Amino acid sequence: MTELTGMNCAELTEWVKAQGYPAFRGKQIFRWIHQGAEFGEMTNLSKEMRAKLESVAVAQPVHIRLKKESPLDGTVKLLYELQDGNCVEGVVMRYKYGVSLCISTQVGCRMGCRFCASTLEGRVRNLTAGEMLGEILCANRFLADEDIRISHVVLMGSGEPLDNYDEVIRFLRLLKEEEGIRLSIRNVSLSTCGIVPKIYDLAEEGLPVTLCISLHAPTDEIRRETMPIAYTWSISEILEACRNYIRKTGRRVIFEYALSDGLNAEEEHAKQLAGLLRGMQCHVNLIPLNVVKERELKGISEEKVQRFLKVLQENHISATRRREMGDDIEGACGQLRRSIINAEV
Ligand code: SAH
Repeated sequence: MTELTGMNCAELTEWVKAQGYPAFRGKQIFRWIHQGAEFGEMTNLSKEMRAKLESVAVAQPVHIRLKKESPLDGTVKLLYELQDGNCVEGVVMRYKYGVSLCISTQVGCRMGCRFCASTLEGRVRNLTAGEMLGEILCANRFLADEDIRISHVVLMGSGEPLDNYDEVIRFLRLLKEEEGIRLSIRNVSLSTCGIVPKIYDLAEEGLPVTLCISLHAPTDEIRRETMPIAYTWSISEILEACRNYIRKTGRRVIFEYALSDGLNAEEEHAKQLAGLLRGMQCHVNLIPLNVVKERELKGISEEKVQRFLKVLQENHISATRRREMGDDIEGACGQLRRSIINAEV
């Protein structure tokens, strides 16, 4: 079966022509796909054509298997099922400025960060560009009942986006297609644990997404305690790549910093972090570490989060404590998928 969702309009038109149909059908089908439609719903195609397409191709490679809505803040956690039966997660977050969707880029992850639930069983496979788009299309479909659409996307679900570089870039380009969902690249954030050469590549793509770096430590020594990638690239190499990204795209970089008691959360660490980032066009997002039951790392008190934040701000670093959404519905990092997988075995 050919997955059509990952094709741009020109490629889809070529494919449609190769099936023996006129070129204008390509644009029609492309529009339908980006509206989240299945072949059966493409009412401006003949019944025969719909049946033929259905027998050779897939329009929507992703379907929602489970939805959990938080009664507290309206955050919706989604469990998506892919064509091969694998599952990935997504989270819909409602903000004043719009509706944001957190999407996954891989089934599992091979980065091995010690605090993260997504990586516990390693990487199963990369998602295709069409599957990443499919995550948005599915979410848009169920939000259509409320007459809203996804306006912002964060690549912060399971997986390391820069470990699936080509498909992620293809996905980002699909967002810009004339006849497609036309989500502004400026409303997209890409989070990485810091694969340095790919950060340089990304700066050259003409796709000025907001780059988020999962830093989580002020020194290489501390970073290596939880993030294996820190043995490959140092913090100073990451920061150099970020400076280049800022120069090339004009966008500020966001540093994510998950606070864990006894690891990286003392005032001294905040001072070290401020020293690293001084003068950089950036923002720090502080996150109290979400305790994953399979992991031994500790969470942190609100008081300590506030103290850490204060030290950063006193040192003129733009920083906020990230609002936690969907805490009550296993909103964090691979936890819903795990709870489902575990319930099945
Ligand atoms: N692989 C990418 C994106 C996926 S993770 C990356 O590393 O950035 C999205 C964010 O959640 C990352 O900042 C990650 O470090 C963070 N994260 C993972 N597990 C967490 C936990 N238990 N508590 C808080 N943040 C966590």
